[in-house]
Amino acid sequence: MYHTKNAVGYMNIKMNLTSSDNLKQKPADILKTPFGTVFSDHMFSMEYLGGQWKGASIHPYRDLSLNPAALCLHYGQGIFEGMKAYHRGGRTLLFRPERNFIRLNESATRMVMPEIDTDFALSALKKLLKVESDWVPDVHGSSLYIRPTMIGTEARLGVKPSDEYLFYIILSPVGPYFREGFSPVKIFLSTEHVRAVKGGVGAAKTMGNYAAGLLAGVKAADVGHSQVLWMDALEHKYLEEVGTMNIFVKFDDELATPPLSGSILSGITRDSVLTLTKDMGFNVVERKISIDEVIEGIASGKVTEMFGCGTAAIIAPVGSLWFKNKSYTISDGNTGELTQHLFDELTGIQSGEREDPYGWVVEVD
Ligand SMILES: *Cc1c(COP(=O)(O)O)cnc(C)c1O
Repeated sequence: MYHTKNAVGYMNIKMNLTSSDNLKQKPADILKTPFGTVFSDHMFSMEYLGGQWKGASIHPYRDLSLNPAALCLHYGQGIFEGMKAYHRGGRTLLFRPERNFIRLNESATRMVMPEIDTDFALSALKKLLKVESDWVPDVHGSSLYIRPTMIGTEARLGVKPSDEYLFYIILSPVGPYFREGFSPVKIFLSTEHVRAVKGGVGAAKTMGNYAAGLLAGVKAADVGHSQVLWMDALEHKYLEEVGTMNIFVKFDDELATPPLSGSILSGITRDSVLTLTKDMGFNVVERKISIDEVIEGIASGKVTEMFGCGTAAIIAPVGSLWFKNKSYTISDGNTGELTQHLFDELTGIQSGEREDPYGWVVEVD
């Protein structure tokens, strides 16, 4: 281990709050605010110096001060998480938040960054959410998006793991992820670019993966498509992910999703969909899905639904697929029955509007 494992347990969180007359204006209509463009008044941060996390504090949202030689800016040692808080009926709810901090540590290990104490991180997040409770919107379809981030900050131009890090959590009130809201998206199959390869960093939520995907996204947009469907990097044959979401395909009575092969992100929404559909008695399998099987299945009517899933969009129905200069329509371009059911069920559980038999929801009290 390069860094001290779990270098700190609990520490005091210093509170430095903005005076009430300096608070920001909240967006007038959260459902019309573009995703991730507004930030709350405060943030949490702590630093890793000399092999220890220290200086935990909740303070006004502010610009970072970084040395231009900070290692994250050159060699990409940066990881993050994405989660949401809901405010309904006077309660603030999180969805399986411990999973996000465990995954942050898995990303940290892959990128040779220090781990955080997951219990401490969750208590820091709850404390921040209590300070910012007015920022958790309560309208149906809205939530507070949470972005925990860790970056290597040591000033050094030699390629090596940073000895210094900054961990912070920022908050952004959001409406639906797609401008269209919950309606079918058009996806573009990239035959030219790949997202990640086994042995690489595709299973980590690390910055470079998203930079690597931008060019294919621009090409998709050129033909009017909003998301990229990624194929495996070796054979360009098997489905991996769609944009920043995991993918599911329904073939008649079977619901299938690609296995976690090392190049795919292990989505918490993916895991929740697997649990929900298994409990519904669905024949749900993690297996390789070839693009030929999907195209043939669309032609024969065997592919009845397809959707992406992830924290930001939750469930995104796929209405059409662009492959080798041809567009294939799925579910007549509509939202399938199972897709709609899963969206309603998941958003219902997350927002506390439906029963949560799994104990997934954690209240901020
Ligand atoms: C974050 C992310 C997902 C979805 O993960 P959730 O835990 O469901 O939010 C899927 N794929 C990629 C590439 C991601 O970055």
